[in-house]
Amino acid sequence: MSSVTASGIAVSPIPAFRDNYIWMIASQTHAVVIDPGEAAPVLDTLRKRSLQLSAILLTHRHEDHTAGVDDLLAKYPVPVYGPKNDGIASVTVPLQEGDTVTLPDLGDLSLAVLDVPGHTRGHIAYYAAAEKWLFCGDMLFGAGCGRMFEGTPDQMLASLSKLAALPEDTAVFAGHEYTLSNLKFAREIEPDNTAIDARARDDQALLNRRQPTLPSTIGIEKATNPFLRADRANVMARLKALGRLQNETPVDAFAAMREWKNTYS
Ligand SMILES: [Zn+2]
Repeated sequence: MSSVTASGIAVSPIPAFRDNYIWMIASQTHAVVIDPGEAAPVLDTLRKRSLQLSAILLTHRHEDHTAGVDDLLAKYPVPVYGPKNDGIASVTVPLQEGDTVTLPDLGDLSLAVLDVPGHTRGHIAYYAAAEKWLFCGDMLFGAGCGRMFEGTPDQMLASLSKLAALPEDTAVFAGHEYTLSNLKFAREIEPDNTAIDARARDDQALLNRRQPTLPSTIGIEKATNPFLRADRANVMARLKALGRLQNETPVDAFAAMREWKNTYS
């Protein structure tokens, strides 16, 4: 897992608001940004690094992922890639699963589009198979997942399972810095999972150095993220023992965790 390719195309975070990451993929001369909720920090970065913006990619319609688009377009009239079914007016290249985004200014970087509904109805993710990079917006977080605003537990679990099926060394570029608080919840679900403790130590050390806990990897998520472990016997048993689960099925376990997490702090 690397955030830089042999040809020097690199992914870096642009922090926005309190805990959002706008991910930038850049060559020496050009950049694309994913989910620019704010324009100012993007324009700042482009200016400092003397980069031309060549495209905007969106995962879903929420304001904190899209509100910077118009101001970026005023300076850079570039294509806006985004979900076909999420009601985003600024999207000029509507996408759904099966589509591929090719970025000529970034060495023909190729991103496959995955439909991952649940957080919003039209949410998509972008997957660069050659580089093993996943840009998953608010679907999958470090040790957590997005709130289920517009989907069913079945749908949300299917979306997460689709991402979990990617190669274990895929880098996970999620849209928010929520990892450490999510790991606290993960510990409630699996108090004996030592991978969770190890990850919490590593991620706390990163935050202490003011570095993001992302990207993680699909392998790390599968080992520590309770929402990718809803099918584990110990997870279901724990939820049942806590009186939060009736039927020991992965979907019910997922739903029970998602509901508990909504009010957990
Ligand atoms: Zn969102």
